Amino acid sequence: MATGDIGLIGLAVMGFTVVAYNRTTSKVDAFLANEAKGTKIQGAHSIPELISKLKKPRKIILLVKAGQAVDDFIKLLIDGGLEKGDIVIDGGNSHYPDSIRRTEELEAKGFLFVGSGVSGGEEGARHGPSLMPGGSVAAWPAIKPIFQKTAAQAYGEPCCDWVGETGSGHYVKMVHNGKLTRYPSLVHCAYDILKRGLGLPEDEIADIFLKWNKGVLDSFLIDITANILKFKDDDGEPVVTKILDKAGQKGTGKWTAMAALDAGTAVTLIGEAVFARCLSAIKEERSVFLGDITAAYVKNPQLESLLFDDFFNKAIRNAQPGWRRVIAQAVLWGIPTPAFSTALAFFDGYRSEVVPANLLQAQRDYFGAHTFRVLPGKENSKFKLNEDI
Ligand code: NAP
Repeated sequence: MATGDIGLIGLAVMGFTVVAYNRTTSKVDAFLANEAKGTKIQGAHSIPELISKLKKPRKIILLVKAGQAVDDFIKLLIDGGLEKGDIVIDGGNSHYPDSIRRTEELEAKGFLFVGSGVSGGEEGARHGPSLMPGGSVAAWPAIKPIFQKTAAQAYGEPCCDWVGETGSGHYVKMVHNGKLTRYPSLVHCAYDILKRGLGLPEDEIADIFLKWNKGVLDSFLIDITANILKFKDDDGEPVVTKILDKAGQKGTGKWTAMAALDAGTAVTLIGEAVFARCLSAIKEERSVFLGDITAAYVKNPQLESLLFDDFFNKAIRNAQPGWRRVIAQAVLWGIPTPAFSTALAFFDGYRSEVVPANLLQAQRDYFGAHTFRVLPGKENSKFKLNEDI
């Protein structure tokens, strides 16, 4: 007899409860033997088994890698026995145009589709996330009790309500994630100034963050940043100094910036945060550039600087002091010069050997278990590696 209220596909970092299935089925057994031990959660080792264990209309949440895996699973579900009126819910970070398309395609076949933003990371997934469902309107009454009960509660209200039609749930999640790129990027600037500008060690920077956390800047991000900075490897070195300063991203920040450009909305800080990640991702190019400088210095120790070709090298070298003074003065006057300052920030980021993307990677891992890579020469670290940043 079918007893499951809701099916879950995806047993990675995220995941709710009830009838659980995963592409790698050994993870189902491990999940049942550990996290789900002593609960009513059931496992399924195939899509037809998952479907057979669910009450109708079936409600199946996909918490898998966004993109092709979602389309593949939708096809497997349809081929595996999904019936008209059943509801497929995509809780991953899908791009909203995909959710618009999936709503239309599934509705045309008689199924219902919900694209739901899920926020709160690993902890939220287990103890109550914020949920942003949108898609087939007819699906909402069927999933509302489960969604609003599962969601985090704040001031007596569930952190979940119906967002709107088609791709609106994932549109809201995209903007939500995009906004979350802003505050960390300010924290990274502060870390960089304290580290490279004032030359402070991680412990002292952590103490400054802890002090800030007692004042108006009191926040989860400042708190975890202080924890990250204090965290030591076995050899006593702060782990953050071993993390490769090459930032990963899963797309929502970039999509928000693109949507903002389409809408003509000036979300400059989100754009800058995304570009800072892009800049950190070309670390090899920067390294090559620094290698050229080293070679040039070996060849000619008197060489003052080496940037691009000779013509630009000379032009940029001549312009730099004035460029910096103009921006500093404009800031003091309160005159915005975004083109000047953005260009200078790019130039300074490009020529920097290390950027604070190591701290960003540590924060992403702390919050969402995204893992990180370590710097060359620091492979002795006992901490995690991830090739797929
Ligand atoms: P993830 O690394 O994004 O995805 C891993 C899951 O996807 C595993 O169950 C994996 O199955 C499955 N998968 C990957 N590629 C697949 C493919 N080609 N075909 C079938 N299944 C495939 O893990 P996650 O961090 O749990 O995230 C799941 C979704 O939630 C993502 O869209 C993510 O963006 C979103 N999200 C994550 C967070 C967070 O804090 N981590 C927060 C909000 C939303 P196997 O076990 O078989 O490899």
